[in-house]
Amino acid sequence: MMDFERIKEIEKDHCMKVFKRSNVCFERGEGCTLYDTAGHAYTDFFGGIAVNCLGYNDPDLVKAISEQAGKIIHSSNLYYNVPQAELIDRLTRDGMFTRAFLCNSGAEANECAIKIVRKLASDSGSGRTTILTAKESFHGRTIATVTATGQEKYSAPFAPLPGGFKYVPFNDLDALREATTPDVGAIMLECIQGESGVRPATYDYLVGAYAFAKQKGLLLILDEVQTGTGRTGKFFCFEHYGIQPDIVTLAKGLGGGVPIACCLARGDAAEVLGPGDHGSTFGGNPLACAAANVVVGKLQEGGLLERVAETGDYLADQLSSKLARHKFVLDIRGKGLLRGIQLDERVSVAAVAGKMLSLGVVIGTCGHNTLRIAPPYIITREEIDDVTDKLETIFSNTNV
Ligand SMILES: *Cc1c(COP(=O)(O)O)cnc(C)c1O
Repeated sequence: MMDFERIKEIEKDHCMKVFKRSNVCFERGEGCTLYDTAGHAYTDFFGGIAVNCLGYNDPDLVKAISEQAGKIIHSSNLYYNVPQAELIDRLTRDGMFTRAFLCNSGAEANECAIKIVRKLASDSGSGRTTILTAKESFHGRTIATVTATGQEKYSAPFAPLPGGFKYVPFNDLDALREATTPDVGAIMLECIQGESGVRPATYDYLVGAYAFAKQKGLLLILDEVQTGTGRTGKFFCFEHYGIQPDIVTLAKGLGGGVPIACCLARGDAAEVLGPGDHGSTFGGNPLACAAANVVVGKLQEGGLLERVAETGDYLADQLSSKLARHKFVLDIRGKGLLRGIQLDERVSVAAVAGKMLSLGVVIGTCGHNTLRIAPPYIITREEIDDVTDKLETIFSNTNV
């Protein structure tokens, strides 16, 4: 095996310099435990950025992928394929959404949503091409999705940016109403802003945005790339709000680690793209769909959703009972197994995450000086006890 020093040398000399990596190289995992190349074990509280929902070496996932690999990995969208049909059936069978487009990443799923808005405007001649997005949102890294992302630090260096996006403060319904000029055709939001600090939309805001969109004939697009596929204890996070968007996008957790994403739509939004309007070479390939079928199957009929809801509540209790009393803990928020702990700026979350790594725990960070927790759905109470104890120890030894 290549040694770690050589790996770091290759990265340093030849990888585009876009990633800042922690000083660890993971080699394998089992359940919620990761092992690095030196054989050290880590409890995974981040799931590869809210991706590895079944943990590591899940026997059903491994079996499905292996079996599918032995049959056919890829055939292109010029032909039918069995796992893709099964997945689309699973994602549409409750009737919430009527059509699906499968692709490979969250950004791509959002690109599909954006193209739907543009095509509807073009077909109808309405001119309603503009999409309202929230400040501090995150929608991806392609040129269009980085423009949709309401954070200049991600988009400004890549000018010229495409037009057609306007930004409104998050959780401010009046601002949304005021920004809705006749050129606006859609509102695109996250139910919980993940990258900018695990910041949930308030109930009144999301329900209000839904009602407003309906009243004005705007499409409501919910980017559930991070919150979807069961992460918050419901299959879609919007189910907590009792609303239904016209378009929803899924990605991170959908394939349990295998790259796959999806744009689901209903009504006109589902019908507007026709032959040749959109496509993807890899999108919905048999291997990726075989993986997603295992994840979605466990959520739909395997009792996994209930487990996320239950474990998520337990996690929230442990976080608040052990951590909330520290005065530099400004807020603990989130839903299900997506939680954020916002700290006073004087305590660096990167430093806390670094200390946790040295104690054998992988934990994430995000905007607004927030620790981000997004473990596999199979995380146990014992693992939660252990990790939250370690956080408590670090917090107790932190003075500001
Ligand atoms: C991660 C993320 C994306 C981008 O997904 P990629 O697969 O990295 O393209 C988009 N939207 C949200 C809400 C995300 O969390």
